[in-house]
Amino acid sequence: MTNTVNNGGDIYDRRESEARSYCRGFPTTFTAARGSELTDESGRRYIDFLAGCSSLNYGHNDPDMKAALIEHIAGDGLAHGLDLHTDAKAAFLRAFETHILKPRGMDHRLMFTGPTGTNAIEAAMKLARKSTGRSNIVAFTNGFHGVSMGALAATGNGYHRGGAGTDLGGGITRLPFDGYMDGFDSADLLEQMLTDNSSGLDAPAAIMLETVQGEGGLNAASPEWVARIARLAREHGALLIIDDIQAGCGRTGGFFSFEGMGFTPDIITMAKSVSGFGLPLALVLVRPEHDVMGPAEHNGTFRGNNHAFVTARIAIEKFWADDSFQRSVEARAKVVEDGLQKLAAMIPGARLKGRGMMRGVDVGSGQLAGDICGQAFENGLIIETSGPEDEVVKILAPLTTPDTVLRKGIDILLDAARTTIDGNQIAAE
Ligand SMILES: *Cc1c(COP(=O)(O)O)cnc(C)c1O
Repeated sequence: MTNTVNNGGDIYDRRESEARSYCRGFPTTFTAARGSELTDESGRRYIDFLAGCSSLNYGHNDPDMKAALIEHIAGDGLAHGLDLHTDAKAAFLRAFETHILKPRGMDHRLMFTGPTGTNAIEAAMKLARKSTGRSNIVAFTNGFHGVSMGALAATGNGYHRGGAGTDLGGGITRLPFDGYMDGFDSADLLEQMLTDNSSGLDAPAAIMLETVQGEGGLNAASPEWVARIARLAREHGALLIIDDIQAGCGRTGGFFSFEGMGFTPDIITMAKSVSGFGLPLALVLVRPEHDVMGPAEHNGTFRGNNHAFVTARIAIEKFWADDSFQRSVEARAKVVEDGLQKLAAMIPGARLKGRGMMRGVDVGSGQLAGDICGQAFENGLIIETSGPEDEVVKILAPLTTPDTVLRKGIDILLDAARTTIDGNQIAAE
């Protein structure tokens, strides 16, 4: 196939819904992607610090995943199979059991939901409610769990909530996330409310949280806070749901974001990078005693994407059979941290956010963060913002990004910040 320069032109304006979003910040037409780089129709290359919002933790078009997928398709392997047993599914389940669940002593089962993260959240919430016979779910400020109605009710962001066009109140109690208010420990509040019969908090079916809030501004909860929430959940008969859709698959170092915190969640949701290749695949890990949905009770035509099973198996075998990948991620995280410290030093009051390879800088305003990202794009770097006011410049580079590319991307970012800050100073004079 030739890459004819077909220049999207105004086709997007004429025919693509106003709901489009990322494409507005990166106004070109992309034609190819490999590793940590994208190429557009003019042949210009960009370093990718967005990585499909952490859906491409292993980079674009990993050669081993690509080869396995091509072989599967060439051999007329199933593309769609509802939730029929297939060789691809069995091989993925075996790899997941061998390299992820068994070494961590986890007895969880895998429930394949519809292929989006939000559908995994819907299933997780339903499982918790059905298993406990309770309806209330505790969720936290700045949490992001997706935009279908149940998940949206648990999501904090007012812009997304506003899109619902109807009341979302049902069945969610909102509490402050760790660090939401300086010097205030919301685990104390939760404990008090769970214990006080007159607090008005209905006994929760589940407490649901991200250990690092990806969309909500890279707020990283302290391991002690998360462990305490886990303990409170257990003591009060609520299930702990960890939404690892963005923070999982190595983004914070380990395969799960809660590793080393001293507890195992009852339910874990995964999507984004679980296929390894950017293919749609979502799953819910659930302990057997809470695996209470009847056959097809949580239904879906696309439960278990066979192409994604093929690449997801390779991802597990290639990156998670031992701890060498995890150690390399930890080394890269240090490079990112050093770079972002330099960025923070340029801006009075700026703060480093996040954990692992899920890092950013709160630059204090959405305008400044957006201008820096816009300038970075001009200079060949794709990077986005996060947070309630989009005030956090957020690095989500593929975890496989070679050191040279990582450093080059960070240099572009720092240059972009310098240019933006200098431009603002000149404008102010
Ligand atoms: C992206 C995301 C979701 C929603 O996943 P979709 O595939 O976009 O529906 C849910 N939770 C977290 C933490 C996410 O980052």
